[in-house]
Amino acid sequence: MAARILDGKALAASIRAELATKVAALKAKHRITPGIAVLLVGEDPASQIYVRNKAKAATEVGFFAREVKLTATATEREVLAAVDAFNKDDAIDGFLVQLPLPPQVDPQRVIDAVDPAKDADGFHVTNAGLVFQARGGVAPATPLGCMALIKLARTDLTGLEAVVIGRSNTVGKPVAQLLLKEHCTVTIAHSKSKDLAAIARRADILVAAVGRSELVRGHWIKPGAVVIDVGINRGADGKVRGDVAFDEAVEIAGAITPVPGGVGPMTIACLLQNTLMLCERRRALN
Ligand code: NAP
Repeated sequence: MAARILDGKALAASIRAELATKVAALKAKHRITPGIAVLLVGEDPASQIYVRNKAKAATEVGFFAREVKLTATATEREVLAAVDAFNKDDAIDGFLVQLPLPPQVDPQRVIDAVDPAKDADGFHVTNAGLVFQARGGVAPATPLGCMALIKLARTDLTGLEAVVIGRSNTVGKPVAQLLLKEHCTVTIAHSKSKDLAAIARRADILVAAVGRSELVRGHWIKPGAVVIDVGINRGADGKVRGDVAFDEAVEIAGAITPVPGGVGPMTIACLLQNTLMLCERRRALN
């Protein structure tokens, strides 16, 4: 039997509708409009689309959204000054710096400069540490989106075997932490792992966050597993493919996310959720 398709587009739309209701209530009760800002450095076409989509989604749920653009030749000092301005701007509750940054700008130094209380992306080491210790903090949006999609398929994850392929600070590691918090037994695999197929086949929940088109084949998947495909890989034919060979995997998995239409739309919805949470915390609303 073919797997259940975990529809990220529909789930993201319902999250955004819920957010819109909460934002309207916040405006009516406290006269507060949550503010989100995005800093874009350079003219990378994919980044321009992401930033535009984030601002559009934010405005649609009733946020105030600000986009600041710097040229690709901006110095690190100029980027840090823009971050500092967001840190100090009382209208901004959460913001992010769109990655990648041009080579003359050290992304780590920029992320370190973000006020953790306004860190909508959850990339600051303070938030990463809090998530690591399961003490709250802001988890990054893509891992939060993965968890919400997994929960569509399995409400109780206790004791399940989870395998995450990829160990980036922005996706792989935080997804693994969130799965651990839900009492899964978690394995993190990466480019140096041996016999990836055998590791993957153990998984009741398999998260692929690699960036290699269709690396995960159908025979890597345990029958009935929940498969979350984070990968976005544009082929020479212009088509976007995930890290999972979908046509093979859909015949074996119990539930699977499509690419596009799975994790991607969830990332923006969870980013907005993070920003509303930061707004409520910063303004001591709950
Ligand atoms: P990344 O920083 O490049 O990390 C990729 C990870 O995959 C690394 O840990 C790397 O291992 C591992 N890896 C690479 N080749 C491998 C292989 N052949 N076998 C096993 N592991 C391998 O990428 P990322 O930022 O985590 O993103 C991963 C993918 O998700 C990309 O396609 C990205 O575009 C996509 N993404 C999607 C969203 C979304 O909203 N849908 C958001 C973020 C990212 P090492 O550590 O050993 O190098």
